[in-house]
Parts: sequence; C-alpha cells; structure tokens
Amino acid sequence: MAELRREPIARRWVVITKDPARGPSDYVPYKPPYQPQEPKGACPFCPGQEGMTPPEVFSINPERKGWLVRVIPNKFPFFRIEGGFDRRAEGMYDMMEAIGAHEIVVEAPEHDRSLATMEPQQIERILLAYQARVIDLKKDSRLQQILILKNYPGIFNRHPHSHLLAMPILPREIDDEIWGTLDYYKRKERCIYCDIIKEEISMKTRVVLETLHFLVFSPFASRYPFETWIIPKVHSPDFHTVTKEMMSDLSAAIQSLFTCFYKLLADPPYSLAFHTSPLQRRFHRDEYHWHIEVRLRIGLREGFEWATGFFVNPTPPENAAAYLREVE
Ligand SMILES: [Zn+2]
Ligand SMILES: [Zn+2]
Ligand SMILES: [Zn+2]
Repeated sequence: MAELRREPIARRWVVITKDPARGPSDYVPYKPPYQPQEPKGACPFCPGQEGMTPPEVFSINPERKGWLVRVIPNKFPFFRIEGGFDRRAEGMYDMMEAIGAHEIVVEAPEHDRSLATMEPQQIERILLAYQARVIDLKKDSRLQQILILKNYPGIFNRHPHSHLLAMPILPREIDDEIWGTLDYYKRKERCIYCDIIKEEISMKTRVVLETLHFLVFSPFASRYPFETWIIPKVHSPDFHTVTKEMMSDLSAAIQSLFTCFYKLLADPPYSLAFHTSPLQRRFHRDEYHWHIEVRLRIGLREGFEWATGFFVNPTPPENAAAYLREVE
C-alpha cells in the first residue's frame, strides 16, 4: 500500500510506500554511490597546508593561535566574481557567464570531524562564518542568492567542509518555494511555513526535537527517507539576520540531530542546504521563511524520480521522526 502526499509549498507529489515501511536496518551498510575519496597527496584543508589553497577571505582565529574555521575561494569554482554577465542568445537559447562566488568553508582544523562529533561551540563558529560571508557578499548587487551546501562525506576530500555559492540567479528549488509561499500568502495572508510549524507542533508525530528557537521535524511529504527540516519558530526570511543567542541554540539543535543520525544509521552520508530569501530588493521576499533541509544519501531510486518528477519514499516521515526521537 502506498499514499500520494502533496508537499504544500512547492506542491510536489511524493509516493510514500508503507508496505513494507523501511527502517534504519534496511539502509545500513550503504551501497555505492557512497564512495568518498581522499586527496592524493597532503590535504589542502589541514593546518600547515594553507599554501595549497588561495588566500583566505575569512577566518576565526582567536588570539592568532591558528584558525578554527577558515573560508577560501574554491580553486575550481562554478561561479567567478570577475567579469560581466555577457547575456546572449544562441539561436533560441539563452545563456550568460556564471558570475558569482564559490567559497569553501573549512569547518575545523581536524581532518576527520563531522557535525555528529564536533562540539556545539565549533558548529556555532561555522554558522558565524557563514553569516559573516553572506553579509559581505550581499554588498555585491549582482548576487541574488546565496546557497550554503554541505555534502558529507565530501566527494573528493573527507576533511569537514561546506560550499558557499553566491549566484546571479535563483535556484529552481528556492524559486518554487517562493512561488508557493506567495500564492499561499495571497489567499490566507499568512506564512505557509509558520502554519506548518504550528501544525507540526500541535500534531507532534513528525517532530524530531524542539529547542527554544527552532523546530526540527520530518516534513509531511518527505521526498527522502529521514528527510529533516530545521526551521526557526519565529518568522524570518533571512538566515544572516539570526541573533547570537539563536545561533547558539541552532548549533545545539544541529549537533543533537546529527548525533541521532550517527547513532541510528551508522554515520550516514548526507547533504544539507540552507534555503534563505534572495538577497537583493528585486527578489527579496519578506513572506519567505528561511530553513535548513537535510537529505540522507541513502536508498536512492533515481530512475523513477528522474522519469516522473515524483519522489518515492519507503520510510514514512512519522516513522522516521519516531526512530529519531527514540535514539538514546
Ligand atoms: Zn585535512
Ligand atoms: Zn513564517
Ligand atoms: Zn526549502
């Protein structure tokens, strides 16, 4: 038996299969494509190897005793800051230069840490580095959207790091969410995310954990097994406006969630992305509500998804949240 559930924001349909419903033991051990690699020579992200990377654009470096978080331009960027857009047509097709920024946030000096094994204070430093970079990049009016993205383990290097991409265009995911947010607002004069938060807190079945400022939950139409969202309980369109107090609360929420994943699913591979409002006045939306989405890279069925645009998830989110809540 299966259910078709519609995610209410971007309105994607998801097939939730329940018979059999899959639990943690169905996903461990992981099969390829989980094949992390290590750099061939010395790790360019380890302390002492700073000369192998471009000069840093930001670091957290208390008392100059060696950095704790370091941000550098990516040597192989998707987007570059120099030049112009050169918007042009090739026949009926549109194209332009990939203007933007692509930075790497080296999250810790230690080569083999993860969000599950870091201290919450270290996670807070990473969040503060993201925030500082967003505030700086926002000054460039060409950059419409920042996307913070982390793949664990890194595809070419296990050293804990994340990507910060500043783009001249809105990614499809954000564009779809904004469209859904505005449509809902037009009809109800309320934020759809705020309504989801109220609903989930009152229903409890999909709540993983709650802190003073954040809700961590399995969304109703989860596309992936153990998909999880982390969202501020008070309405806010922009991640970079988070206060210091909220930042420390958020780092505790992140640490608890990833410790649960680590224990329940034997250190699973995952991706996480920050969804936050576009930066510049032209696209910025007060109605939007920033959040973090986490996807575990387990149990993929890309073929069906690719062909139909529907996702199939064999772990109902109510079960996922219950498993995560029960982790000791
Ligand atoms: Zn390293
Ligand atoms: Zn809201
Ligand atoms: Zn989102």
